[in-house]
Amino acid sequence: MSKKVESVKVIVRCRPLSSKELADNREAIVRVDTRKAEISIRSMKSDVNEPPKAFTYDYAYGSESSQERIYIETAYPIVESVLEGYNGTIFAYGQTGTGKTFTMEGIEDPPEDRGILPRAFEQIFYGVEQHPDTQFLICASFLEIYNEEVHDLLSKNSKNKLDIKENAEGVFYVKDLTSMVVKSILEMKEVMEAGRKNRHVGETMMNRDSSRSHCIFCIKIETSETDKSGMNHYKAAKLNLVDLAGSERQAKTGATGDRLKEATNINKSLLTLGNVISALVDGVSTHVPYRDSKLTKLLQDSLGGNTRTVMIANIGPADWNYDETISTLRYANRAK
Ligand code: ADP
Ligand code: MG
Repeated sequence: MSKKVESVKVIVRCRPLSSKELADNREAIVRVDTRKAEISIRSMKSDVNEPPKAFTYDYAYGSESSQERIYIETAYPIVESVLEGYNGTIFAYGQTGTGKTFTMEGIEDPPEDRGILPRAFEQIFYGVEQHPDTQFLICASFLEIYNEEVHDLLSKNSKNKLDIKENAEGVFYVKDLTSMVVKSILEMKEVMEAGRKNRHVGETMMNRDSSRSHCIFCIKIETSETDKSGMNHYKAAKLNLVDLAGSERQAKTGATGDRLKEATNINKSLLTLGNVISALVDGVSTHVPYRDSKLTKLLQDSLGGNTRTVMIANIGPADWNYDETISTLRYANRAK
């Protein structure tokens, strides 16, 4: 197995059986050993004697794991390093219905169920309070990549497609993307809410399926500090919070036409992301294929190098999901 670079961590989180799965008497076939960071899965199809397949990650969480614990162990260090000037990215990967949005955004009520985004907002503004002598400029943007097209979720015209451009340093950016200056946790939540609403409007008006789009909530933090000798220190870093499109294979649903094109694009960008991460992790690849998808182009300066990345792969425990669950476990294992 290849040598692991500390800057990329891969985590698997298994949600509880849903009430529907319980009502249908579905069996839980996934076991989580948090201490060993191991997930094992039993096949329902083959021989009962076949041993379960086991995979290890940096962390593994089961149904009893709290949002708080997952935040502290996985997201907290990344947000700290963003405050120190290093870019960071947190991805939620997985089949639709396995808890990507629960992990990223969570639920407001009860408050302990809030997810990574609101907790990151709290940590960032707590960091601001702790440094009264530093000046902070914090901006947020929120975009969606649907069918390899970029849409601004903070714009009134979120239907418009935006172009990706490359600057003189070879960094890709979205032309005309809205960037809002944000001064408090509350303002940050309002930005998140506004983006969520626009996404929902796009979904109904344009007959889009939001499980097929990638969403990037990006927080840019610039700091300026004058030291005792009067020297000014400027730092800038970005935190990308990414709720990926559902990883389920689309072929089964018999998609045709536009839907098939969308499905192909989703698979392509998730595959490219896997290729990029595994090239970064093995550390010997000279070619990292960032340019192969819009998602990886836009995240190029926040993946690899001095940056920190966490991939949270979400799975469900139920037997009916066996194939998709195995495919997520393999994807995450490859990224490791
Ligand atoms: P996805 O975004 O991957 O499609 P969701 O986050 O919408 O999935 O989760 C599907 C459902 O399962 C939601 O009702 C969500 O509240 C619930 N859920 C997901 N993960 C958990 C968890 N760890 N604990 C409790 N409920 C969860
Ligand atoms: Mg979701």
